[in-house]
Amino acid sequence: MKLFIPDIAYINPKSLNYEAGKAAKEYLEKQNVPIVHSRSVSIEGNSPSENYVKAKKTIFITINAQKKLRNCKPSADYQFSLSSSCPGHCEYCYLQTTQGEKPFMKVFVNIGDILAVIQEHINNNLPNITTFECGSITDPIALEHLTGNLKKCIEFFGNSTNGSLRIITKYNNVDSFLNIKHNRHTKFRFSINTRYIIDKFEHNTSSFEERIEAARKIASANYPIGFIIAPIMIYDNWKSEYEELLNKLKSQLGDYNDQITFELIQHRFTATAKELILTRFPKTQLDMNEESRQLKWGPYGKFKYIYPKEKSNEMKDYISQLIGKNFKNAKIEYFT
Ligand code: SF4
Repeated sequence: MKLFIPDIAYINPKSLNYEAGKAAKEYLEKQNVPIVHSRSVSIEGNSPSENYVKAKKTIFITINAQKKLRNCKPSADYQFSLSSSCPGHCEYCYLQTTQGEKPFMKVFVNIGDILAVIQEHINNNLPNITTFECGSITDPIALEHLTGNLKKCIEFFGNSTNGSLRIITKYNNVDSFLNIKHNRHTKFRFSINTRYIIDKFEHNTSSFEERIEAARKIASANYPIGFIIAPIMIYDNWKSEYEELLNKLKSQLGDYNDQITFELIQHRFTATAKELILTRFPKTQLDMNEESRQLKWGPYGKFKYIYPKEKSNEMKDYISQLIGKNFKNAKIEYFT
């Protein structure tokens, strides 16, 4: 897909003390993006939905001063961020309810400081391996063309004896990662779904074909890989479309001999998320009918609506069987 170009960029003057800050500014200028030098971002739409749309086209080039990383159990020991928010408009994005009314993107340019904090966390945990996740509040590949910082991170972990990295993405801008020394210390996970779900609900992200092609390239570059199939939904033709998805993955990754992991997550929503989704996407065709769902108590102190047991079992069994049929060396890490 075409690389994301914002409508406007705010640049924190401090970020111009860093190479990546200068490079991002130069790139944006070449693209004729209006630039405001400021320590804060101002977005004044006439409605919450206008604020949302404007924010998703606004970036703030700044620095990340975080010294103590947050835990990220169970997927990794810690999470860190090279950016926050992303240019995608996925209707059910898990960040919808956590990033406020104006989820503009921050791009952090002080990569040396970020890597020093990571190294400190690795040192504090020696001689164990410390694992890190960098996609908890962003899509780490969507904004990579502005800084090249994720590439530097992968190289850093490639040289690290006690650190490893996990990446999750819905984007296909992976070419800069293919010929670097990663030493298999970085695992790429692609968030993937049926054509219908990607086209209908995951606006401004890479397409079905593009994501699978990106996974193929990353697999050929000998990285460990995995897929998150989420959110799994039941709709007309869902069975044949998930079959197409697994067949397509198999045809592209048939000669990848290492283990491929799968994480399976059924569609769920909370009452708060439903309200927000209806404000931001008034014409949404997402199935959020509470009557056809069952309630489950979530770890963040909120009830969520999931599929009834019988349906979720059917989903789990069907997709697990498709994975087993297509991949001898697959591991299904969980279904939730
Ligand atoms: S790509 Fe990921 S982070 Fe971005 S909107 Fe979609 S789900 Fe959210």
